[in-house]
Amino acid sequence: MPPLAKRALVWVAVIVALLLIFKTDLLPAAEPLVQLRGEFIQGGLVRGKTTVDSTVELDGRKLRLSEDGQFTFGFGRDRSGVSTLKVTAEDGRTETIERAITAREFALTEVNGVAEDKLKPNTDNLGRIAAEQKLINAARAKHLTTAGFGVDFIWPVEGRVSGHFGSRRVFNGWKKSTHYGLDIAAAEGTPVRAPAPGIVVLTHEDMYYTGGTVIIEHGHRVSSTLIHLSKIDVKERQYIKQGDIIGEVGMTGRATGPHLHWGMNWEGERLDPELLLPTTASEQE
Ligand SMILES: [Zn+2]
Repeated sequence: MPPLAKRALVWVAVIVALLLIFKTDLLPAAEPLVQLRGEFIQGGLVRGKTTVDSTVELDGRKLRLSEDGQFTFGFGRDRSGVSTLKVTAEDGRTETIERAITAREFALTEVNGVAEDKLKPNTDNLGRIAAEQKLINAARAKHLTTAGFGVDFIWPVEGRVSGHFGSRRVFNGWKKSTHYGLDIAAAEGTPVRAPAPGIVVLTHEDMYYTGGTVIIEHGHRVSSTLIHLSKIDVKERQYIKQGDIIGEVGMTGRATGPHLHWGMNWEGERLDPELLLPTTASEQE
């Protein structure tokens, strides 16, 4: 072989060797079977994504999967122990994620100036409260198969947080209650925006405890309940985009000042909206 051909051959060998070495880096990394967002924590909502052909089980119970492979689940305020998520793909791959549910500490707060009839409802009002609770439960039983819950949630109003999820409350010095939502103080009439897309499953002008009430179903029975509204701008069965105005801040129902109370549910579990939100300047004070 002439020397020139030999040198060319050596160069070809070097290039082939280099290509082989870097080949693994040029290939896209294998997609993990499951991606999760959110913690296993009291009040926490976890959002997940997997392949569309997978089966997802939480503690042995099958979860809904949207057409693009999204699923969700959450943990109520008093949940404890360990929860296990098992994902099985059609090709036989499986992934099991077992995590302890993080416990939180919840504050004790005193709330004064609450109208006494809202703490000691009479017989007529007890009937009304039961009927309204039925409407709320029926609304929260509805579900969309799409995954509006998969977005980055936004604040429905900008304002100071005046009440956190999970706190124990004592009203007027005697009535104990647990606070299952996030309170954001804002002036009466401030527009309230949908924190995530979904469908309106309940509107009510004046419920006994919650006043002007809107419930939005974000998919798979993740819902937002927005209450004490002074005005409602949406109708039941209306699809809404994230950021759409659904009504205005008020102090209807059991409230001592104008604010938005935002409760969240996943099925029967009551969740903390604050865990889904980016922090704001008012919170960093
Ligand atoms: Zn509240």
